Amino acid sequence: MARSKIALIFTVCMAALMVGCSQQNGPRPPMVAFKPSTQQVRPRSVSQMKSEVRIRREFMSPGCYARRHSKPMKPRFITIHSTANRTAGAMQHRKALGNGALGKLNWHFTVDQYMAVQNIPLNETGRHADKGGPGDRYSIGIEMCENESRGRNYPRTWDRAAKLTATLMKEYDISLRNVVPHYFWTRKNCPEPLLEGGRPGYKWAWFKSRVDYYYRCINNGRSNLG
Ligand SMILES: [Zn+2]
Repeated sequence: MARSKIALIFTVCMAALMVGCSQQNGPRPPMVAFKPSTQQVRPRSVSQMKSEVRIRREFMSPGCYARRHSKPMKPRFITIHSTANRTAGAMQHRKALGNGALGKLNWHFTVDQYMAVQNIPLNETGRHADKGGPGDRYSIGIEMCENESRGRNYPRTWDRAAKLTATLMKEYDISLRNVVPHYFWTRKNCPEPLLEGGRPGYKWAWFKSRVDYYYRCINNGRSNLG
């Protein structure tokens, strides 16, 4: 067989393999340039950082409407949202999920300035990104609250979400590249407070930098950029 023909067959096989992989693992997000934090790394364990996040587990009933269509999941992405709701904190969102007020919607964590409430297990799909598409099938959904009722403190909420994201990256071996805004899946203006003109810009890059910093704190100073 001519060498060029073998090369062609090889190329086609590799392309098929890559398409297969990308379908199985989801799309490859663009690399986001960010300025690494110069803050000195303060080493701690994953469990120490988790306790700083203050995770409160409040799983929705397995038989409830929102969880009835869930599927098993191996997380490969972390999708960041904001609630676009000025009146509810993390526990109020949990109540709304539990009483069916949000229909089919569900997601893994809701973060506010005080805690992170976990609504469903991490080996189970939510419905928060793209109506059952790859964003839902492969990603852990984190909603950041925008409530103003007890005094708004976005930076605290964002910082808590960044720490939580770093611990999940470590536990599930997810690279920073695969930490994406909801915008990535559907071009929705979400998380709105961290986008500029509906698109990722310097605020999103700042958030990535915070996640990278906290990841280095629990990973012997090393990043996982993907
Ligand atoms: Zn969203």
